[in-house]
Amino acid sequence: MTGSNSDALRRAQCAAATRLMVMENLLDYSGHVSVRAPGRDAFYIQPAMQPRTDVTPDSMLLVGFDGKVIEGNERPPVEIAIHIGIYKARPDVQAVVHSHMELAIWFTMMEGVQLMPMRARAIRWRSGIPMDDDPSHIKTPEQGAKLARALGPHHAVLMRAHGSTLVAESLPALLVDAVHFDENARAQMQVLQAGRTPLPLTDAELEQIDRHEMREFHCEKLWKYYVGKGVKSGAVPGEWELDA
Ligand SMILES: [Zn+2]
Repeated sequence: MTGSNSDALRRAQCAAATRLMVMENLLDYSGHVSVRAPGRDAFYIQPAMQPRTDVTPDSMLLVGFDGKVIEGNERPPVEIAIHIGIYKARPDVQAVVHSHMELAIWFTMMEGVQLMPMRARAIRWRSGIPMDDDPSHIKTPEQGAKLARALGPHHAVLMRAHGSTLVAESLPALLVDAVHFDENARAQMQVLQAGRTPLPLTDAELEQIDRHEMREFHCEKLWKYYVGKGVKSGAVPGEWELDA
């Protein structure tokens, strides 16, 4: 298969998105990006032990919804149940990132404070940013299903004292969401650190932003920017085929 839905493109974009998120401090020694394998109950994800800076299209494992590795010889990440739970519950989701983004974690630790849409790009999370109350690693199918229930129809879920998981319609969109999720959390934290009361976007303001939203264009533009930055800095090999 070729084109935007090909397995080869998805493997390459998954490896690139992982490296680019490390470059942007959105992922570190742990956390993982996955993408649905087109037309089957399976997804691509990196091996558990491989440094996030080193993943390649060829190192991606193909893993089934039963957690078994279909292609590849390495073991998948310990928290693979996150990805399985969400792909099973959300047919619309094509890509998932689980990270231990510090800013996101802080919003699971403050009494009476909820992460809210502060910056315009947080229109993506207009429907809400729920939290799963399980603070442990997500290792079992039951935990994965519970996380997916906490996520519900939304596009992000915080994980108490642990991290966050974002979902999107493509890997380029997932990278863009991760960038803006971090920006939005930082904006709210800076207001709090200034000792002021956050003024999140109102419903009327979100409505106005939504009227002018050009998500597809924006995701394409930022993907191009981050891939270019990654290639120039050496984070991503220039020869990878990353565009549909
Ligand atoms: Zn985790």
